[in-house]
Amino acid sequence: MILKGKGVCSGYAIGRISIYSRAETRVVRRRCKDVEAEIARFEEARQAAKVEYEKLYKKALDEVGNNNAAIFRADIVMLDDMDYIESVDNIIRSQHVNAEYAVANTIDNFAKMLLKLEDDYIRDRAGDVRDVFNRVIAILSMEKNPGNKYEEPVILLSSELTPSEIVRLDKTNIVGFVISENNSNSHAAILSKSLNIPSLVGVDLYGYVDSEGQISLHDEIAPEMEGRQAIVDGYSGRLIIDPDEDDIKLYKERIKKEIRNRELLDTLKGKETITMSGKKINLYANINNEKDVAQALINDAEGAGLYRSEYLYMGKDEEPTEEEQFAVYRMVAENMGGRKVIIRTADIGADKRVGYLSFGEEENPALGYRGIRISLEKPDMFKTQLRAIYRASYYGNIAIMFPLITSIDEVREAKKITEEIRKELDAEGYPYKNCEIGIMIETPAAVMISDLLAKEVDFFSIGTNDLSQYTLAVDRTNTKVEKYYNPYHEAILRQLKLTIDNAHANGCRVGICGEIAANEKMIPYLVEYGIDDISVSPSNILFVREIIRKIQ
Ligand code: PEP
Ligand code: MG
Repeated sequence: MILKGKGVCSGYAIGRISIYSRAETRVVRRRCKDVEAEIARFEEARQAAKVEYEKLYKKALDEVGNNNAAIFRADIVMLDDMDYIESVDNIIRSQHVNAEYAVANTIDNFAKMLLKLEDDYIRDRAGDVRDVFNRVIAILSMEKNPGNKYEEPVILLSSELTPSEIVRLDKTNIVGFVISENNSNSHAAILSKSLNIPSLVGVDLYGYVDSEGQISLHDEIAPEMEGRQAIVDGYSGRLIIDPDEDDIKLYKERIKKEIRNRELLDTLKGKETITMSGKKINLYANINNEKDVAQALINDAEGAGLYRSEYLYMGKDEEPTEEEQFAVYRMVAENMGGRKVIIRTADIGADKRVGYLSFGEEENPALGYRGIRISLEKPDMFKTQLRAIYRASYYGNIAIMFPLITSIDEVREAKKITEEIRKELDAEGYPYKNCEIGIMIETPAAVMISDLLAKEVDFFSIGTNDLSQYTLAVDRTNTKVEKYYNPYHEAILRQLKLTIDNAHANGCRVGICGEIAANEKMIPYLVEYGIDDISVSPSNILFVREIIRKIQ
């Protein structure tokens, strides 16, 4: 069973589910004759709560650092807030009731008031008010401090978690948090991030579907989940309950890789991607959308070597407008902070279908309308994209790359359109930069004429994913012929060498962005052949850097 939510702290976790149980204090209204004694009880409990929060603050300082621990400083201030104190005093005096009831009543009134406010940040603080004063009620009711301890790795499920609950928890064995409340700005979400514990919010935990498909719905977290094995995927925002062997194997590998990556980060972040004999390689990230930029930067990418812009077009009902595209490209360029961003114009077609664009049924879509062919057939769409890219180029370091090139004419035609666009933008007074222009080398035709193509462009990027399918006559999406899909085939290696030699002989830089670029055994060959740029998925960047730095 898979439940979807929103990942607030990335990472993966495997563990048994434990449903967080909060000792709920039932507050009863009692009449009290001695109001002064009740007020004194409240005062004592309030002071005791302050002492507790001071301790929590110190614990939080150790666990989550100064900035995040500040929440507890704010809680201590809240405990001294005269509005709350006077409200409790007034209720006790005017209604002759017990302190617990007066505090509960005060929390309700203030929380309701905060929830009505427009400001999201202040509204979210309603939970903090409840948390602090619930503790005062718990002290008045002489409840012990909740202190859960877990003996094995657990994924903690809760409808909500307050910051103080998170700090109080013994987190030695907590590997993940899954919260049904949908608030990624809550302090609990912020704390889970600083604790680096993979966490999801907004997951509907109130239903359970068993292996026979029987559904049971509950008003509380489905008790059937207790003790079940589960996986938290903080990247895709998924909670996988009762995963099968394959899932577990896959996620164990991912966790191993993450741990390794973290170690690499400590040693390799900020270091050059350079061989021992001094050959420098530009190490870039392949990104599919603007959200991948964060991962690219975290993993210390030196740029984005392949930005698959077609994802902007997929899953939509209509073509993204120039303004929409401009905003996204600009954001990516700015967020990459001056690092190179190679935007590949839309490589639509084959397995990357766009619903609103129909070219009729195709017998062999991979050999049909795709990439630059669609762009040149639909110049309006192509021009809209190029206008957006050029306009965004002013805000960063953008290069443009055309996909699925098979001829010189295609490159010349595409370049001619870029010229037209630049003239248009000049006439309209838009600022832009003269972006470098490159092409994907991903068809055997492009490899065979790479000496000629190199004279037309500033750079190549070899796409071995497609080059393998087109060279070996293997549909890359057909699992029946998967065993024939061998990107390490001698036919591919020879094409790599030929392309690099032809590029260099004609003053053209050459990179690679196909999956094999991250292969440990392949990297030394690429370097030996003379590759200039390597672009891999963000999680592979530091592995590649490590390997390159060990090459002679
Ligand atoms: C490739 O073909 O190698 C490539 C990087 O492009 P894509 O995987 O997007 O087709
Ligand atoms: Mg490709």
